[in-house]
Amino acid sequence: PPSPEDLPADAVLLARNLGPGEILEYGRGRLRGIALEEGSSASHAAIVARALNIPLVANVRGLIHLAEIDDPIVIDGDVGRVLLRPDGAVSAAYREKIILRAQEEAQFRTLRDKPALTKDGAKISLQMNAGLLTDLPSIDECGAEGVGLYRTELQYLVNDRAPRRDKQTMLYGQVLEAAGDRPVVFRTLDMGGDKQLPFLKGAAEENPALGWRAIRIALDRPKLFRMQLQALVRASGGRALLVMFPMVAEAAEYERARELLEIERDRAEREGREPPAIMKVGAMLETPALAFAPDRFFERVDFVSVGGNDLAQFFFAADRGNQRVAARYDMLNCSYLRLLRLIVARCEGAGTPLSFCGEMAGRPMEALSLTALGFRSLSMRPAGIGPVKRALRAIDLSQLAELLNEVLQGDADCARNAVGRFCREHDIPL
Ligand code: PEP
Ligand code: MG
Repeated sequence: PPSPEDLPADAVLLARNLGPGEILEYGRGRLRGIALEEGSSASHAAIVARALNIPLVANVRGLIHLAEIDDPIVIDGDVGRVLLRPDGAVSAAYREKIILRAQEEAQFRTLRDKPALTKDGAKISLQMNAGLLTDLPSIDECGAEGVGLYRTELQYLVNDRAPRRDKQTMLYGQVLEAAGDRPVVFRTLDMGGDKQLPFLKGAAEENPALGWRAIRIALDRPKLFRMQLQALVRASGGRALLVMFPMVAEAAEYERARELLEIERDRAEREGREPPAIMKVGAMLETPALAFAPDRFFERVDFVSVGGNDLAQFFFAADRGNQRVAARYDMLNCSYLRLLRLIVARCEGAGTPLSFCGEMAGRPMEALSLTALGFRSLSMRPAGIGPVKRALRAIDLSQLAELLNEVLQGDADCARNAVGRFCREHDIPL
């Protein structure tokens, strides 16, 4: 394959499959689109492409065999379509679409400093997901209130050695600087699954998504985890430190990880370093098990953030990295919405702040449904904030909540038709 530096202008990359680290590497070049024969739009590779604003379409069987070098091609990431050697009319239609998109983006910019306030007065906090230092400048452009999910592992996917503590401290400090007085929620290293760090190779696993990953590695290999916690504590001296742990499945995992963080905070203080001004320690809710944790978990945790990408993968038993099964289940599936509603109720019962940071939060119809279920904080890719805010400002949330309640009491498998009809009838721009 060509090296990222050797890509010609306006290049489109066709590959059998790519990992998030490779997309990061190529994304720094002049890449305009990616089409994969395998993979899935819910994978971390797709998330990285989205963060870099590079259209990506997965699961395009037989493409490489059909395509020739220098062929013109359309990669429509919105609908997941690839058009090889499009005719003149199709190309013209896509050129038009690109112009319209630019106009729409100008409209979103006018909303930037306006609140995400629904017609009936519900205020929704919109945050952005990030994971690369290059993401941070978009915090000003997109109008996010903060960073609701900072994926710390993304920066390390391209490293072949564990980054040293000082380097990590500097990086987190830069992130906090760039965010200014807006909060940043750091998620501790979420490795394993489809994010294999080059410097941390465990034994090959049959089911890596269900394997030794995230907090499981952190608790089993506390040395690496401790180094990251120390870097986070040092970087946030005198400022707020917001940390959350990925892939928690039971209360004890959260409690042990929190204890390790508190030890590092106390140690820093003993060593004469300025401790974080405040420290909030949350958990990602990504396993169905955690939704059913004992009350003590919801009472002790400072905040909960639903990682819907993994939660849906485990709930439906459908690999998020395999489009054939991942696309099979709708995120507005009623069973899934009932699980989310239960999570809202458990957090409300314990007075625990709750947000949602999976990809679903960045799509208007899904975001409306989440807020109708009771979520008041959503974290999404920066480009999702404009469209979601526009939809939220046009809706009477209590009406949609009522409708969704009815649907969830009924026999339907999926709420999408009902929510779609509601949006059409109420002229909600989607
Ligand atoms: C999630 O699982 O929804 C999530 C936000 O984390 P990631 O996509 O990085 O696994
Ligand atoms: Mg996850």
